[in-house]
Amino acid sequence: MGKVIFVNGTARCGSTMVDLIMGNDPGGFSLGEVCSWYRPTRTHHFDIKCGCGVYPCPMWQRLRETSERDLYDELLGQRDLDFVVDSSKRLTWVIDQNLRLHAQGRHEVYNLFLYKAPASLHYSRWKRGIRSLSGTAGAYQYYARAVAAGIPFVSVNYDWLVENMDEGLSAICRWVGIDFFSGKERFWEKTHHHLFGSFGPRRQLFAKSPRIYRESFAEDYCAAVDDLQMQLERNERLQAVLRELAHRDIRNRRIEGFSRASTVRRPWFYYRQRAEEWKRRFFPEPYLDREASTIQEWSI
Ligand SMILES: [Zn+2]
Repeated sequence: MGKVIFVNGTARCGSTMVDLIMGNDPGGFSLGEVCSWYRPTRTHHFDIKCGCGVYPCPMWQRLRETSERDLYDELLGQRDLDFVVDSSKRLTWVIDQNLRLHAQGRHEVYNLFLYKAPASLHYSRWKRGIRSLSGTAGAYQYYARAVAAGIPFVSVNYDWLVENMDEGLSAICRWVGIDFFSGKERFWEKTHHHLFGSFGPRRQLFAKSPRIYRESFAEDYCAAVDDLQMQLERNERLQAVLRELAHRDIRNRRIEGFSRASTVRRPWFYYRQRAEEWKRRFFPEPYLDREASTIQEWSI
C-alpha cells in the first residue's frame, strides 16, 4: 500500500515548493499539477515541459498513455515508490481522486491544505497594483468549498512553515508517516519529473539554486497593513474560514481524529467547475501569469 499526498491551496500559497520538498525523498515522486495534463484548461497544458529539464521527458513519454485512473497505481505499484505528491489543487480533481482512492482502498490518502494569512496573501496582489481586498478575501472561499465537499484535510500556514522549516516538515512527515531528514527542504538537489506549477520553484529546479525565504513587505505595504487588517477582520465570512483553518492546523494536536476519514461528496460547485473544465478543453485560455517573467521559461 502506498500513499497519495495532495498538496492544495489557493494560487500563490506555496504549493509547488511544498510539493517538491515533500517529494525530495528516494521513495517519493512529485507530480506537480498533474490534473492540468489530464484535464487541460490553458494552452500550455497540452505539452509536457517536465521539471527534469529533458524535452521530451522519457518518464512522461512512458506515462502519458496512462489514464488518470491508473496513474497512482502505475507509480506506486510498478515503480517501487512509497508515496506520490500531487499539487493539482483544483478541487474537482481532488474530490474525484479522493472518492476513487477511498473506494478502491489500495492507497492511503492525505490532504494537506496550505494557506497564508490574508495580509500575506494580499501582498502578492498589492505588488501588482491591486488595492481592493475583495479578490483576496474571495480567494478563501476555496477552503470553504473544500470543507463543503467534506475533504478531510489538515492545514499548514505557509509563512509559519517557511520560518520553522524543520519543525513544520517533521510535523507533516509524522502525520503522513514518511521519513523526515535534515536537508529535506533542499528540493533542488533531486531530479523531479514535475509538471506545471509556479515558475519560481521550477526555475530553481533548473538553476539548482537554494532560495527559501519568507517575503518581507515593502515600505508602502507596511504603512497600509494595519488598516487592511482592520478591514479584513470585519469580513465575517473570511473570519469563519480562518477559524476553520486554525482548527485544522497541523500544530493542533486534535487533528488525528478526522484527518483520514472519508466523507467526500460533490457539492453544486463541483458540477459547475467540471462544465467549465470541459469547455476549456476545447477553448483553452492563453497563459497570462503576470508573475512569470516570460513564456520562454517553458522552453528548456
Ligand atoms: Zn522528466
